[in-house]
Amino acid sequence: MRRVIIVGGGITGLSAAYELARAGLPFTLVERSPRLGGVIQTERIHGCLVETGPDSFLAEKPWALELIRELGLADQVIGSNDHERVTYVLKRGRLRPLPDGLMMMVPTRLWPVATSSLLSLRTKVRMATEWFHRSRRAGQDRPVADFVAEHYGREAVDYLAEPLLAGVYGGDPSRLGVAAVLPRFLELERRYGSLTRGLLALRRKGAFRRLGPLFQTLRDGMGRLIETLAQSIDRWAEILQAEAKTVERIGGGYRLRVDGEWLETAHLLLACPAWEAARLLRNLDVELATLLETIPYTSSITVSLGYVKSVLPRMPRGFGFLVPGRERRGLVACTWVSGKFAYRVPPEMFLMRCFLGGDGLLESDEGEITALVREELARILNVNAEPSFVRVARWPRSMAQYTVGHRDRVRAVRDRLALWPGLLLAGNAYEGIGVPDCVRSGREAALQIVARQDSHGFRPAPE
Ligand SMILES: Cc1cc2nc3c(=O)[nH]c(=O)nc-3n(C[C@H](O)[C@H](O)[C@H](O)COP(=O)(O)OP(=O)(O)OC[C@H]3O[C@@H](n4cnc5c(N)ncnc54)[C@H](O)[C@@H]3O)c2cc1C
Repeated sequence: MRRVIIVGGGITGLSAAYELARAGLPFTLVERSPRLGGVIQTERIHGCLVETGPDSFLAEKPWALELIRELGLADQVIGSNDHERVTYVLKRGRLRPLPDGLMMMVPTRLWPVATSSLLSLRTKVRMATEWFHRSRRAGQDRPVADFVAEHYGREAVDYLAEPLLAGVYGGDPSRLGVAAVLPRFLELERRYGSLTRGLLALRRKGAFRRLGPLFQTLRDGMGRLIETLAQSIDRWAEILQAEAKTVERIGGGYRLRVDGEWLETAHLLLACPAWEAARLLRNLDVELATLLETIPYTSSITVSLGYVKSVLPRMPRGFGFLVPGRERRGLVACTWVSGKFAYRVPPEMFLMRCFLGGDGLLESDEGEITALVREELARILNVNAEPSFVRVARWPRSMAQYTVGHRDRVRAVRDRLALWPGLLLAGNAYEGIGVPDCVRSGREAALQIVARQDSHGFRPAPE
């Protein structure tokens, strides 16, 4: 029997691997990096738990937590300190709290918005009168910036939607499409006209009722999930540390060029970025490769700075701050790690995790990147002290961008892929960028392989 092959040992590929192992299917996992986990990487520095990639996952999406439970890590799960949750937004040089009760840019409580120092009187009036809004483009995909501006005005784009989306997607709301990025809001617009009215109506019906914290993670960091997954697949996995180069058709299946050799298989899962899948598939199907290339990616850099607390000025309480594009000189967001999660930072230390939009800075050396971040922390927080440590991590072309028309593009990719039985794609490029979506995407792809195996054996691809 020819083994299943997975390309990519990030959370997507490992989730698929876990599902195959559960079904007792042996497989080869091809990962070019010497470590597994992709952008998930946890380190201990000076007693601090440093996440150089994702630090948590959204609790309302169940797939990461389900996997964690199955792996026996339920007692490791911790939630964000939501009672401390204040996120600030930089406006004209000052940090101003995001008003309570906002869902993205949609207000669900009057008083916090009315008294907010972040928004002008004009925007507050606009937010109140949005209740009567009717859109001629209701339900139509369009740039998030246009969508938000139509409902709440330009300031809501610049000081709410843009910094929040730049923080999550590393993206630009004038390019991101509302249908893929904020599908729930598009549906509210279609049904109710007004987002505020729609959201409050749904809330009255019991939707959005959240009992636990907004974010969850593991006490020992996200890296623990990777280690445990790696252990769980051990019996069934052959792990090749090598770069996959190209895919070709052979007999009833595929062959993959790895390290100068060809590996043959009837089931090939590409759990790598779409641009990489495009490169691998160019010899097999130019049209599919071209479709995959149209999914853009941005890069990201995280810079973690650990300080002895006593050298810092008094820091505001909360989770951290966002820097809107209009006020940005490189820094996009900063998380105060000890505010957001327990068990991360010893009491005498303070850890900041800063995000930079990577595309213009990827080639800069660590000294330049650190200097830029420190200038920003001095400007915004008056922090001039020497950090005890700095850890810079670069994640080139790591964040898929769901631009206008994304869903149609993904549909076209899936339609084309249907011509190639046994060839599968999974990852953050398609139906969700966060860790839970990647877990779901990897597991679903593996289940398709298992189902094909159960019903047909390794059915050859037609000539
Ligand atoms: C800085 C940062 C912070 C984030 N924060 C959060 C967060 O807090 N919460 C959240 O839910 N999401 C977050 N995300 C998003 C989420 O982490 C990612 O979307 C997800 O982890 C991607 O997983 P993946 O396995 O699909 O891809 P990756 O992690 O990119 O893994 C792909 C793997 O494929 C390998 N590979 C690629 N090409 C080849 C090849 N040709 N041959 C062999 N191997 C190959 C790569 O080396 C890599 O290991 C963040 C992302 C970044 C970059």
